[in-house]
Amino acid sequence: MSKQLYRLVYYSRNRIAKDGNDFRTAIEQILATSRENNSRCDVTGALIFNAGCFGQVLEGRLEDLEATFERIQQDDRHGDVSLLAMEPIEHRHFARWSMALVSALPSDDSALTSIGLQSGFDPSNLNGDELHSVLHRLLLEEEALLAQ
Ligand code: FAD
Repeated sequence: MSKQLYRLVYYSRNRIAKDGNDFRTAIEQILATSRENNSRCDVTGALIFNAGCFGQVLEGRLEDLEATFERIQQDDRHGDVSLLAMEPIEHRHFARWSMALVSALPSDDSALTSIGLQSGFDPSNLNGDELHSVLHRLLLEEEALLAQ
C-alpha cells in the first residue's frame, strides 16, 4: 500500500431540515460516525457547515479517501456533492483531528451558521486550496480562543 498522502476537498448542499434538535442530532451523528470510521483508517480532516452548505477536507492514503468519499457521496443528508480537489500532499494539516468541526456545536442552531454568515463564507465560491485554507485558519483561531 502506497504511503503517499492525499488531500480531498469538497462541498455539498445540506439536506437536513434545520429544525432545532433534529439538526443538532444529525450533525452529532455525522461527526461521531466520521470520527470512528476515520480513526480506523487514519483519515484526518475538518468539516464546516454553513448557509446550507457543508465544506470538508479529508487527508489520508488514496484508497482510504476514495472509500470514505464513496460513502459520503451516497449519504442523503446532503446532495450536489462537488469535488474541489484531490491532490498529493507532503504532510497533513489536520493531523490531530479525525474530524474537527469548525466551530464546536453551540447552544443554539443559529449560532452554528453564524460563523460563515458573518464572514461571508460560502464554500461553493471557493476553490479547493481556498476552502482548505479557510478551514485550517478558522480551526487554529478557534483553538487559540479556547486556550485563552
Ligand atoms: P452506518 O452504520 O451506516 O451509520 C452510522 C450512523 O449514521 C447510524 O447512526 C445511522 O443511523 C446514521 N446514518 C447513516 N446514514 C444515514 C442517512 N443517510 N441518514 C440518516 N442517518 C444516517 N463518514 C465517514 O466515515 N467519514 C467522514 O469524514 C464523513 N463525513 C461526512 C460529512 C458529511 C457532510 C456527511 C453528510 C456525512 C459524512 N460521513 C462521513 C458519513 C457517511 O456519509 C456515511 O454515513 C458513513 O460513513 C457510514 O458509515 P458506517 O457504514 O460505518 O455507518
